[in-house]
Amino acid sequence: MPSALKAVLFDMDGTLYDSMPAHVKAWSEVAAQHHLVFSDTDFYLFEGMTGEDTIDKLFLRTYNRHATSDERYTIYQEKTVLFESYHIRRQPMRNALSVLEKVKDSGVQIVVVTGSAQHTLLDALSEDFPGYFDSHKIVTAFDVVHGKPHPEPYLIGLRKAGVSASQALVVENAPLGIQSAVAAGIFTVAVNTGPLADDVLIQAGTHRLYSDMKALADDWTALKTYFFH
Ligand code: MG
Repeated sequence: MPSALKAVLFDMDGTLYDSMPAHVKAWSEVAAQHHLVFSDTDFYLFEGMTGEDTIDKLFLRTYNRHATSDERYTIYQEKTVLFESYHIRRQPMRNALSVLEKVKDSGVQIVVVTGSAQHTLLDALSEDFPGYFDSHKIVTAFDVVHGKPHPEPYLIGLRKAGVSASQALVVENAPLGIQSAVAAGIFTVAVNTGPLADDVLIQAGTHRLYSDMKALADDWTALKTYFFH
């Protein structure tokens, strides 16, 4: 049953921020140091998974065994230190602000659901997008037991917004994030901001696909009117 739209749940990396290229660079450097078998595309496909799960996947592929908890922890620390050493200023995704503006003007709540584990996330979001985010409506890696593609992150997002799945919409860029949102029963739109083929996002189950945030902003009124009543 369609309902009125009450909340939009945004993924962060690759959706609100153009941060994936730097993450992929750090992952590739660390994976090469550990002689793991990988391609850059893998990191776009694994996006949304916890860092430790990504390492485990590469160990299984390369060494035909799971990574030990020590290996998972240590290598993820190395990746994080490397990523931070780039000192790249967070780059908001082009036209993400236009989408946020339209959502806010529609009187719809804004929630962030990310697999990222940064304590300073709200500070960054408030600085880059002033007035759009609320500390009670952010789901990070610290809030969940299971990362995407498990539905838990988006289910917690619904709870924080106080809405049901039928009253929400998710904006994602990654296949595992789409799977997580769809598994939570939420209408999901994808913006293909990376190098993956559209078909990968369609196969993951997205209900609508946009080429970028501008296309989503331009279609916002139609989307809201058509799918929510
Ligand atoms: Mg993402």
